[in-house]
Amino acid sequence: MLHIGCHLSAAKGFLHMGQEALSLGADTFQFFTRNPRGGSAKEISQQDVDNFLDFSCFHHFSTLLAHAPYTINPCSDNPQTREFAEMAFADDLKRMEYIPHNLYNFHPGSHVGQGSEVAVTLISALLNKVLDRNQTTTVLLETMSGKGSEIGSTFEELRAIIDHVELSDKLGICLDTCHVYSAGYDIVNDLDGVLEKFDRQIGLNRLKAIHLNDSMTPFASHKDRHEKIGQGTIGTDAVIRLINHPTLKHLPFLLETPNEPEGYAREIKFLRNNYNS
Ligand code: FE
Ligand code: FE
Ligand code: ZN
Repeated sequence: MLHIGCHLSAAKGFLHMGQEALSLGADTFQFFTRNPRGGSAKEISQQDVDNFLDFSCFHHFSTLLAHAPYTINPCSDNPQTREFAEMAFADDLKRMEYIPHNLYNFHPGSHVGQGSEVAVTLISALLNKVLDRNQTTTVLLETMSGKGSEIGSTFEELRAIIDHVELSDKLGICLDTCHVYSAGYDIVNDLDGVLEKFDRQIGLNRLKAIHLNDSMTPFASHKDRHEKIGQGTIGTDAVIRLINHPTLKHLPFLLETPNEPEGYAREIKFLRNNYNS
């Protein structure tokens, strides 16, 4: 069974997202925990959560992926920005417990000239403050393309962050196919080699989700431009090999392709049709 979904708007609550996902042929979805470009979070309704949990259980939904807002930068050089990141992160993790045992994904951030080492220290310090022994959520660091001063475009950097976190059993990785390809990991011609590297440098047991995107820009471009499945530089064949790879095929795949709902439904159908169960 291919576990696949796409990014949905959280504006109308959990049950609405579940229903929308189901109508698109999905059995999982991704959503922003709060305004992606601002900071405010909507009040969670216990009734909506209860309705959704029944619904997702009935329809055998897979693990969900919540995405932190883009505005948090845990390794900013501005203490106020880091404080906001900590506040939003801690609040999000509290809210995630309404829907226990799911995944919370964040961008490690941009070091804005401070260098990778300082950034790793700041990001792990934030994680050491907000992670709680009793949380059921697994926090995922997203693999990034390395645009600007972005952290997390190498497996080594991600490993270094994990190594500095006390409750590292709460941490995993979300691999974004557009980002890793742009970062210089050749998932088109050498998927096995990339996964071997991942295993050596991070450990495949940390890999918990895939952001499934094609890319508008060439290999190792260090750009971050998502493309529809099969219409970019990664291509259909590589995507089909990816969803069927024995190491990956059981993970939740989340589309972040530039699509309207009908486009997502088409991509989900296409990928289900090309999945060997
Ligand atoms: Fe992301
Ligand atoms: Fe992504
Ligand atoms: Zn991206």
